Amino acid sequence: MHNAALEALGLDWVYVPFDVNPDPVNVEEALAGLRALGLVGVNVTIPLKEAVLPYTIVSEEAARTGSVNTIHNRDGKLYGYSTDGAGFLRALEAAGQPTEGRQVLLLGAGGSARAVSFALASRGCRCQIANRTEARASALADDVNRRFPEAATVTGWGAEADEFDLLVNTTTMGMQPNEEAAPALPPNAFAGKPFVYDLIYVPTQTRLLAAAAAAGCETMNGVGMLVWQGALALAIWTGRPLEEVPVAEMEAAVRATL
Ligand code: NAP
Repeated sequence: MHNAALEALGLDWVYVPFDVNPDPVNVEEALAGLRALGLVGVNVTIPLKEAVLPYTIVSEEAARTGSVNTIHNRDGKLYGYSTDGAGFLRALEAAGQPTEGRQVLLLGAGGSARAVSFALASRGCRCQIANRTEARASALADDVNRRFPEAATVTGWGAEADEFDLLVNTTTMGMQPNEEAAPALPPNAFAGKPFVYDLIYVPTQTRLLAAAAAAGCETMNGVGMLVWQGALALAIWTGRPLEEVPVAEMEAAVRATL
């Protein structure tokens, strides 16, 4: 998707994958190499999103979420950003969904749940967080509430939840190669016809999304968020406003691949 965007922008750049050993010494050397080679920037994915924190000047959002997915090399200094939360909100907006004041049931408490819950709380949404490991849900809710008082509560994994109009799956359940898996849902999961948003993009239709659609809910998969977090990264690297990033070309490239 990035190469499609670079071509559309007429930039003589290329986006390539690097398989980086997550050993801390190696991570530090890889980042020094990035500087030495004069790369514009990189995206960072699991398990490096946290490992690069000590070596980058982190944005407020990256510090808050404790993870970096985008690094920009500016004048030999490495700046770390997290575009996941903003990408999540942009995708929701693009689907014509309000992003403010929503009552949310958030499944999961990992890295993406952190980005999503802070993003939603920043828009005045209230999140009930359910996670298999409840202690992680509590820790996340505490962190969110420290920044946005009373924005988050914890609810049992698979237990009845208070009313909600947006259900977000941030767990890996249902992601390839575990397509048959699905997160535990409260008995009232689809009763209020919530909008159901699954962050997974492979497969594009998870068991959760199929069940939600069968129950008459509107649904969305993770493709939009993937595209928007990438578009936001490209805006950072190029210094161009987001409106100039060719999002449609990026999305077409992703959909062609999927
Ligand atoms: P993560 O930090 O590893 O978190 C994984 C979450 O899944 C945790 O809440 C974990 O619960 C839960 N989980 C895993 N296996 C489970 C099981 N067998 N039963 C119940 N819960 C289980 O991962 P992440 O970075 O947040 O990513 C999560 C998903 O979001 C992935 O599918 C990823 O592809 C997707 N994602 C999409 C985008 C996008 O742009 N669309 C961006 C980021 C992430 P415990 O705490 O109990 O282990």
